[in-house]
Amino acid sequence: MSKFVVENRIWDQEEALPRDQLAALQGAKLKETVERVQHVPFYKEAFAASGITPGTIQSLDDLQRLPFTTKADLREEYPVRMLAVDRSEVARYHGSSGTTGTPTMVAYTHNDLKVWANLCARFLTGGGLLPQHTVQIAFGYGLFTGGFGLHYGIEHVGAAVIPAAAGNTPKQIMLMMDMQVDALVCTPSYALNISEFILQNDIPRSALNLKYAHFGGEPWTEDMRTRIEDEMGILCFNNYGLSEVIGPGVSGECAVRDGMHISEDAFIVECIHPETLEPVGPGEEGELVFTSLCKEAMPIIRYRTRDIASLNPEPCACGRTTVRMSRVTGRSDDMLIIKGVNVYPSQIEQALLRVEGTAPHYLIEVDRPDRKDVATVKVEMTEKSFSSSMKQMQELKDKIDRAIQGTTGLRMNIELVSPSSLDRFVGKAQRVIDRRKKV
Ligand SMILES: [Zn+2]
Repeated sequence: MSKFVVENRIWDQEEALPRDQLAALQGAKLKETVERVQHVPFYKEAFAASGITPGTIQSLDDLQRLPFTTKADLREEYPVRMLAVDRSEVARYHGSSGTTGTPTMVAYTHNDLKVWANLCARFLTGGGLLPQHTVQIAFGYGLFTGGFGLHYGIEHVGAAVIPAAAGNTPKQIMLMMDMQVDALVCTPSYALNISEFILQNDIPRSALNLKYAHFGGEPWTEDMRTRIEDEMGILCFNNYGLSEVIGPGVSGECAVRDGMHISEDAFIVECIHPETLEPVGPGEEGELVFTSLCKEAMPIIRYRTRDIASLNPEPCACGRTTVRMSRVTGRSDDMLIIKGVNVYPSQIEQALLRVEGTAPHYLIEVDRPDRKDVATVKVEMTEKSFSSSMKQMQELKDKIDRAIQGTTGLRMNIELVSPSSLDRFVGKAQRVIDRRKKV
């Protein structure tokens, strides 16, 4: 565990507004946002269908009268029919990877970029960033919002950025050592690869000056945090964002590390039941829905993220008054239905991290021979367990079987594979192959 202690710092006063002031601010900004999008063809039509006129929205209480926006809507409006400003006012475009279909494009005005950098500066400050620090970004730079989003946030705080981008792990570590890097930014699965390389090459901890890391871009578990913190001797902070809403900077952890503070002056958050669409109570898991309040180029109303998490409105010891969201436990898009049971890859990860002798690298394969679901989890052994006896390996398989049953309630086939045999990822990890979809 790291000896690094993060002092409690708040970047700006909007993070700690009294709740009544915040609600008034949100109501006023919501009204402005609705006015701003009325000429966007998608919203013009959706508002007409719901009977919404500019006068309908007077305060925050009117939020639920507004229609939802989905990923499918954004795809249909590809590339930028959702623009609320003239194209000449756009300063930058980003987009989603489009691995599951048409990509979605998002746009920013100069002012949007300033707002975005400030939102990133908030969570980075909450998680230890000081102007004298050097931060290495091992996120992809490009259409993906992770690299550029954090980059400008770090610069806004006044710290130094090394834009290493994703990949080339030996070079990442060389840079970290030579430049005495204080903090790392990447996906948690890439951090795991970096950590593995450090261990395999016997690089002494003292060669690194690394104190903390900010991870985002994919769901991860508390067990994964413990593993990376123990292996690398650093503190790991979680942050959350998505390009459709703005990118990273929607929320992030403070020094207390008990949930991620949502920048509520910039977004209204809702947590709903994904099927009934009714709001769920505090602490209950549901789908997160965000409405942007500050975006000029491409404001978004009640965007259904597909991300499953819960909200905590209780005051935080850090002094921020904003609502905290839990870790994302899964994306409803990633949810597998196996034998009628909902399973998230994160449940498998959580189980494996609790079984000694396994590496946190795994692949879930689901198939449906003879019209019955069969799930197989390929699990990498550690070097030590790989050289153990057949009997010990069987015991290991039994332990994994029980752990997975514990987190998912399902029995799956367990296949032990040799160390470092599964694919490694520099960005978001691909942990599932579902062959049933081809049928
Ligand atoms: Zn806090």
